[in-house]
Parts: sequence; structure tokens; C-alpha cells
Amino acid sequence: MARIHTVGGAPAAVIAGQRVELLDRARVYACGITPYDVTHLGHAATFAWVDTLGRVLRFLGVDPEVCRNVTDVDDVLDAAASRAGAAYDTFAAIQQFPFERDMTALNVRLPEHEPRAHRYVAQVIRLASGLLDVGAAYAREGSVYFRGAGMASRAGLERAEALRLSGEYAGRPDDPAKDDPLDVAVWQASEAGHPAWDSPWGPGRPGWHAGCVAMAMSVFGPAVDIHAGGADLRFPHHAYHAAMAEAFTGVRPYARAWLHAGIVTIGGAKMAKSAGNLVLLEELLAAHPAAAIRLMILDRPWAQSWDYQPGLIDAAAARLESLYKAAGRTVSGDPAAVDEMRRLLAADLDVPAALDLAIETGGGPARTLAGVLGLT
Ligand SMILES: [Zn+2]
Repeated sequence: MARIHTVGGAPAAVIAGQRVELLDRARVYACGITPYDVTHLGHAATFAWVDTLGRVLRFLGVDPEVCRNVTDVDDVLDAAASRAGAAYDTFAAIQQFPFERDMTALNVRLPEHEPRAHRYVAQVIRLASGLLDVGAAYAREGSVYFRGAGMASRAGLERAEALRLSGEYAGRPDDPAKDDPLDVAVWQASEAGHPAWDSPWGPGRPGWHAGCVAMAMSVFGPAVDIHAGGADLRFPHHAYHAAMAEAFTGVRPYARAWLHAGIVTIGGAKMAKSAGNLVLLEELLAAHPAAAIRLMILDRPWAQSWDYQPGLIDAAAARLESLYKAAGRTVSGDPAAVDEMRRLLAADLDVPAALDLAIETGGGPARTLAGVLGLT
């Protein structure tokens, strides 16, 4: 008698309206931290969502391969290291410890790959050479600039807005060496107070976007399935990353889908050290159960920005209690409920609806969801 094998349909996830068909593996690149400061709730929210994306992919039968880089070549980090009297790489490595401790507490799993920017300088040099070869960049005064004149329209932004964001995110739109204010350094000529490496254009260092391109391509090749990061990275960082990668490889699109986690605000204002309104993860973890903090982050549409208020953690703790109570019920649970949860989570990570269902159904499905969301 022939054995009949039952096989499911090919898994697909919808991310930000983009259907991503997958077989057994998904390449997820997440822009990681610049380790010069403490971890705040905004960082935690982004990385909790990246972690949840990976867990949901696994729930769908897909092996996630997550790469979360460490941006240890960075002008702000250099300044912080210099104030601390430390070498930039030593300083970054030390700053990374509390970040990893806080991520572990929040049940964010270690990514499969964690490349550090300073180890990918040779790849950035090759990237710059390739961009020069195809005419997407030009060398000037020891730097190599990527041609960014078309970046505003590519990103769907007014040019004035693109210039404002470029200035805000260290794009140096006022640099007179550039043909266009929206050009950015793939390779930055050396400057006092920053590390420098030899290159065909003289000593210098990788530009921010180029560093991420080099790391993503070295780990995954020319394209990724999902590129993730905070919504504030959408422009310029992610727009330039995709444009450089596509110009270099000719493979389009560089990313099949983007997960831009919503920004966490305080009283409507973006969290920033300069504004003195940082909500530190370490302090939240000292006062509340980590699973309640995690659920506060996840029990909402991932793309939406939200305002943090202390009462939200208490509400999340109560919701968590309901989930645990439901999970403890001895009802066998409707097996169709697990399929429905899988469908809800595949549909743009609809955690609130999956939670409602789990709490209502109880038993096995509720235990399954607590595991999938990393709340156990
Ligand atoms: Zn990046």
C-alpha cells in the first residue's frame, strides 16, 4: 500500500502589504545598533518585532536566517569613544554588553549573523570600486560619493524633505565637494578623530549606508527577503542601502519586503538623548516583568508609531495574565484555532487578533501562541 504524504501549501507572509512567498528559508536583515549609548524602549521595540518576525516565520515552517549588524564605524560613536578616552572598537564592544543583556532579558534571540562594520572595510572598498565602474559614484578629494540626485523621487519624497532628512542623518548635504547635496559618501576621506583605513583613494572610512550594504551582501548575497529596522531608517538609510545594492548588482529589488517598526514617542516627541526623554529598557526591566514589556510592544500594529505611557505596561501585564490563564485551561482547544492563528500572524503579524483568539479559545492554542510570541 502506497504511503500518502500530506503536505501543506507553500508558506507566505504578508509584510506591509507585500506578499512574500517562501519555501524553507528566509533572509532577514535588520539594521542593528550603534553601540555608543544605552538601550531605550525605541530600540527594544524594533528588535522585539524583528525577533517576533523570525519566530512567526518558524511557526509558518520557514527557517529564518536573521542578520543584525553592529554599526561600530560611526561618527557619533567615534565622538563618544573619544570622550571616554577609548579606541572606537573597544568602546563599541564594551557598550554592546548591556544591549545584549537587555535583549536577552526581553527574550530576543541571538541573530544567526552579527557582523561588525569595522570588519567589512575591504568589502566597502570593493563596493565603491564597483559603483565607480557603473557610473553610480564618483571619486573626489579622497572620498567616493554615490550619486543621490534621484533619491528623493525614488523614495517618494519632496526634495526639500529629503534634504532635511539627509542633514538630520549625517548626510552632509552642505558638503561643497559633492555634485549634488543628496550624494552621500560610500567612502569618506579621513578626518581627525575618526579611524582610517587605506584605500585606492587614500586613507578614509566606510560611509554608514555602504557599511550596511557590504555586511548584508557578504552574508546574504545580492538580495534579502525582508529588510527590517526602525521607521526612522526609511530615509535616508534604507533608501540609499537599496539603491547602492541595486546599482552594484543589477538585482532588483534588493529587498522583497520592508519591516519598518513604528517609532515610540513620549508625549508625542521622538525619544532622543538630547531631548532628555529616553525611557531606558534597563529601568523598565528593573520595575516590570519582561514579558509584560514585550507584550506592550507587540500587542499593536507593528508599523504604527505609538506613545509610551507607564499605564501601558500594567495593561499589557493584565493581558498577559489573561493569556496565561487561558493557556492553563485544560480544554483541548480547537485545532482549527492554531491554523487560524497561523493565518492571522502570516497576515502582517496581526498579534492583537491572534491574542484575542488565543485568550478566547484557551488550552493548547493559547500555549502555542505564548511560545510563538516569546512570552513564556
Ligand atoms: Zn543598516
